[in-house]
Amino acid sequence: MKILIAEDEPSLRENLQWMLELEGFEVLAASDGREALALVGAHKPDLVLTDVMMPELDGFGLVKALRESPLTATLPIIMLTARADRTDTRIGMNLGADDYLTKPCRREELLEAVQARLERSRIQQQAAQRMQLEVRQAMQIDTLTALPGRDLFEQQLENALNSCATVSLLCLGLDGFSKINESLGTGVGDLVLREVGRRLQQCALHGPHSRPFDAVGRLGGDQFAACLVDLPDASALTSSAAGIMRALSQPYLVSGHTLFLTTSVGGSAYPEQADSVHALLLNAESALHHAKPDGPGTYAYFDVAMNRRVARSLLIHNELHRALEVGDLQLFYQPQVRIATGELVGFEALLRWHHATMGWISPAEFIPVAEQSGIIVQIGEWVMHTAARQAAQWLARGQRDFRVAVNISVRQFVGQDLPHLVQTVLGETGLPPHMLELEVTESLALHSVASTLAILHDCKALGVHLAMDDFGTGYSSLAYLKRYPLDTLKIDQTFVRNIPHDRGDVAITHAIVAMAHSFGMSVVAEGVETREQLEFLRSLGCEEVQGYLFSKPVPADQAAAAFAGFAPQTREVAPSA
Ligand code: C2E
Ligand code: MG
Ligand code: MG
Repeated sequence: MKILIAEDEPSLRENLQWMLELEGFEVLAASDGREALALVGAHKPDLVLTDVMMPELDGFGLVKALRESPLTATLPIIMLTARADRTDTRIGMNLGADDYLTKPCRREELLEAVQARLERSRIQQQAAQRMQLEVRQAMQIDTLTALPGRDLFEQQLENALNSCATVSLLCLGLDGFSKINESLGTGVGDLVLREVGRRLQQCALHGPHSRPFDAVGRLGGDQFAACLVDLPDASALTSSAAGIMRALSQPYLVSGHTLFLTTSVGGSAYPEQADSVHALLLNAESALHHAKPDGPGTYAYFDVAMNRRVARSLLIHNELHRALEVGDLQLFYQPQVRIATGELVGFEALLRWHHATMGWISPAEFIPVAEQSGIIVQIGEWVMHTAARQAAQWLARGQRDFRVAVNISVRQFVGQDLPHLVQTVLGETGLPPHMLELEVTESLALHSVASTLAILHDCKALGVHLAMDDFGTGYSSLAYLKRYPLDTLKIDQTFVRNIPHDRGDVAITHAIVAMAHSFGMSVVAEGVETREQLEFLRSLGCEEVQGYLFSKPVPADQAAAAFAGFAPQTREVAPSA
């Protein structure tokens, strides 16, 4: 806390200064009112202690000047008067001083008065801030960026729609913003958002086509929006989007960090694609959503094809919940075969969905929707229960030496207790642990390595098998391969498809098999469709395969036929096409 003393008598001034500094206050000292005024302007003290009689500008003049300025109108002021001067006190209080002390004052008296004033001022400031906040909220201004919040921005859009021939909307998403919050803290994140707001405001006011109804707003989190009216043509919208993206991609200098951010943008326009504020926002937001997967800093314009895709994924999203409830989801089983003998190794359980009106929906289409909405967690539990129950049935019927593999989504690792699920499933079905295999994907490596490692080890400790699925397609890193307790690597079918003709894929497959073996893991090649592929994989030392050459994924009753094994494929057979 900073206190300014204005007192022309040096010994008194020094005495006051000494008493206050002893209490830990920072003290500024002035020998007359004019000097005091200058110090107030430069150092913004929290309280002023002033004598009445001083040269240049006296105490009354100082109080009057401070009270007249809006910056110091509420600054606490205590006057120091001589014992006899009761009129002085009255004049000072009338001018706006908060309290007075008679000279020479005792230490306790001084401190009590100072503390009381500071406390009172703190309470007043808090009340004022609260009121300001309430006013702002009432005005629907985003307090962080000072841009209109979502409600106000929607009102502005509505006004634009009512007054202008065309209204274009750009939804802006900051790419990877959450990383800033996570790594540098929300304080730094807030500063970046504030700067984004400032730059957007500037774009809106000084853009090449800016019009009175143009507006910018913060839709929430790291999402912003710009409304541009009566643009001459579609290319003007694209160039406005490019201008905004450029402005927001300039480096951010905050708290000693230099940060680089890109922005993804989705655009939509009234009246071509939308006839209401609601539709305009929905379209631009879904265009943004589609721009994001194409990489950072992408611009997407809402179109009819996108509309169809959005509508379909919305439908799938809604229907998935029902499918899980009414039992429309099924598991098919695809045999995995030991190359050397043609024996069955096990099955991979794969989801199938037959919808009453939409027909078969491919997992390639509904799994990503399920992952995005999070329902994959419940689906994954159902899959594990169902597959384990099926395997336990086969076991009860006398089948031996096989495994059933289930695919585990990354979502099942985050905020879920996967080991507990595995334990429950094993307990309920009575399936021996080594007969269950969990297929995880490389995208796990993108999540907190420490926690995924711990979860994998906990699962491993339960005795289940672990396989890395689609190996080579994602974020392969030798570092995690070494640390993850994996039993098996599954080579993705994209590599298998073109062997032995594509030299690159041959080299990759070769390397994966060698590496897996050196880590003590076995290898399953996925998507084997021809004898030629099989022979080549055999020559590389790959142990197991899975693919249409042996069987497509089939319902459980048909899959049981695979227990008889497959005729060993011999080298003499001519490669099929
Ligand atoms: P995946 O786990 O890599 O499964 C292998 C995919 O390859 C399956 O596609 C399978 O039908 C297909 N396939 C097998 N052999 C051949 C072949 O010889 N040729 C060709 N062209 N394809 C073959 P599917 O069933 O469409 O599943 C696609 C993906 O969906 C799976 O890839 C997996 O990532 C995901 N998925 C399926 N079921 C589940 C599940 O229960 N949970 C989770 N999280 N994901 C699942
Ligand atoms: Mg799989
Ligand atoms: Mg796979």
